[in-house]
Amino acid sequence: MTDAELLLVFDSTIDPSGIEGWAQHFDSTGTTVTTYRLGGADVMVAQGPGTLLPLPADLPRPRQTARASGGFRLGRRELFPSGTAVTIGSAVVGDGDIAVFAGPCAVENPGQMMSTARAVARHGAVGLRGGAFKPRTTPYSFQGLKWAGLDLLAQAREETGLPILTEVVDPRHVDRMAEVVDGFQIGTRNMQNFELLTEVGRSGMPAVLKRGFGCTVDELLTAAEYILAEGNDQLVLCERGIRTFEGATRFTLDLSAVALLKRRTHLPVMVDPSHSLGIPELIEPLTLAAVAAGADALLIDVHVQPEQALCDGKQALLPEDFARLMSRLEMLSLGVGRRLAPAPAADYSEIHDALTPDVV
Ligand code: PEP
Ligand code: MN
Repeated sequence: MTDAELLLVFDSTIDPSGIEGWAQHFDSTGTTVTTYRLGGADVMVAQGPGTLLPLPADLPRPRQTARASGGFRLGRRELFPSGTAVTIGSAVVGDGDIAVFAGPCAVENPGQMMSTARAVARHGAVGLRGGAFKPRTTPYSFQGLKWAGLDLLAQAREETGLPILTEVVDPRHVDRMAEVVDGFQIGTRNMQNFELLTEVGRSGMPAVLKRGFGCTVDELLTAAEYILAEGNDQLVLCERGIRTFEGATRFTLDLSAVALLKRRTHLPVMVDPSHSLGIPELIEPLTLAAVAAGADALLIDVHVQPEQALCDGKQALLPEDFARLMSRLEMLSLGVGRRLAPAPAADYSEIHDALTPDVV
């Protein structure tokens, strides 16, 4: 057995006997085959000596072929060269537009959640972030409102029309959360929680996988395979800063990873400058730099009263700063031939300014 792996992508319209023909061909050369249904295509992974032989000419042509090694297979850009678009409720990530998800680090109470949600909706976010289950570095910090927090997120979606993206920390929560949320976030501390990845993969729900702050780009890509191998291609990878010797910022935002990921994988890439930097003044310049580096989406902490936040208040933008960032981002996006994804609630401010005088 050799390590050589050959990947073949077939249109889903191919006659099953064609796939069977390929399987028989590989079998006859002592080569094992595994087939995945991904992105509306059949992806065959062949491993063994037959992958080194010339491919037979009498079988239906695959749409794409690629060589793989090191356990990085289904995420490879060569399989889907035009990229994968991920749909999180009404928001699309990876279709060319820049999608901004914003909201508080943690869901804290109805007033904070609703007023922050209204603010990010009226300033052009396409999705709402907010943690109900918070994986904190110490057990003595606020751990989130848990299921009650999910109810508040659902109410905020009801009012603003924004889909909700929230962190899942436990594989046993996946099914119950899937009934409420539009997309799962897998946090930096859980990037290699493989049971969680598999469960999220099985759920078929869209997910954002954050890079472990001590993990390499290769480790991120192979962690993503756990989700893809379950047949779930609705996956966004998120750079959120890594640990380096530099202590002036909370983490070091690795923008080279963004440019690299865009070339190595068909999955869209999100950047979370808030958690990377921990300094609100740096969020705008690094958000612009992330888009210039090729990011498809952004995840931004916004809070109506950052000084009262129960979690990560130091890095949250005030709504007016978020508004400014969005207008700078709009200009920058045009400059690099892209545009901000249109917000679902474009006329939201008119509707709600009248109804809710507490809109910030
Ligand atoms: C978050 O986005 O709320 C979060 C906890 O981020 P990270 O996992 O990147 O620290
Ligand atoms: Mn946080």
